[in-house]
Amino acid sequence: MSDNDVSNTVRPPTKRIRSDHDHSKASTKASEASRDSESKEEDKNEDNHEDEEWLKQPPFSVGADKDGWETKWRESCWCGKVAFVYNEDPSNSKICHCEDCQRLHGAPYQHSVIFHKKNVRLDSDADPKWIGFLSAHGQVHPLSSTPTPLPRKVSCRACGSPLMDEGRNMIMAFPPSFEWTRTHKEVKQAKEDDKNKDNDDNNNEKKGSHGSEGDSGKGARKQQGFPSELRAQCHIFYERRCVDVKDGLPKWRGHKEQSELMGEDEK
Ligand SMILES: [Zn+2]
Ligand SMILES: [Zn+2]
Repeated sequence: MSDNDVSNTVRPPTKRIRSDHDHSKASTKASEASRDSESKEEDKNEDNHEDEEWLKQPPFSVGADKDGWETKWRESCWCGKVAFVYNEDPSNSKICHCEDCQRLHGAPYQHSVIFHKKNVRLDSDADPKWIGFLSAHGQVHPLSSTPTPLPRKVSCRACGSPLMDEGRNMIMAFPPSFEWTRTHKEVKQAKEDDKNKDNDDNNNEKKGSHGSEGDSGKGARKQQGFPSELRAQCHIFYERRCVDVKDGLPKWRGHKEQSELMGEDEK
């Protein structure tokens, strides 16, 4: 870990793509070291394999056949221990202002995007032992590392970041946890990384260019700002809002198409 890692943020120096600290030698080494110690731990826990059946199911699918998989999006928690990758754009996106979403996210509203489970998988760099489950059945469970009945909320047990709501066939993920290019500085950095990577590839063809990047694949987008593919299409439960949102999108008082539309300032 270099001094550089702690100068701007208290976020742990786990490898994340599209951040200021990407691809630093220090973080790559740290992630390789932790992978080594994990594989040793796995060897010790051989009798637990039956309990880990859920890891073979979507949206986790650890070790599933990767042929034809092309990562389009990567979603990661604040500390970087849990990450999911997506090979499609979402089919739908909305912003919910209901009280459940406000409380569960500690935020004025929840922005979610919908994917089919077959388009999601756990990133190969993620550590499944940090996945936390919370049953959404109305009973309150402690954050559990054992899957609770569906539907359930999936988060990181280390940092608490919410990552998705999991249903039977679909999942709702949260675009603020997706990796997109937030700042002008990141765009610049991505361009430099690309240049360096091209040089590395030329000097070191056999090594494989994505060895230390999990499923993240492609490197950063060259455009700054929130991606249009993840943009919300409407607001629901707008009557219960903490903040007015003047984005010109339709605002439903309650559920979409089952309640009335509201003005952006209307109570
Ligand atoms: Zn985390
Ligand atoms: Zn809600």
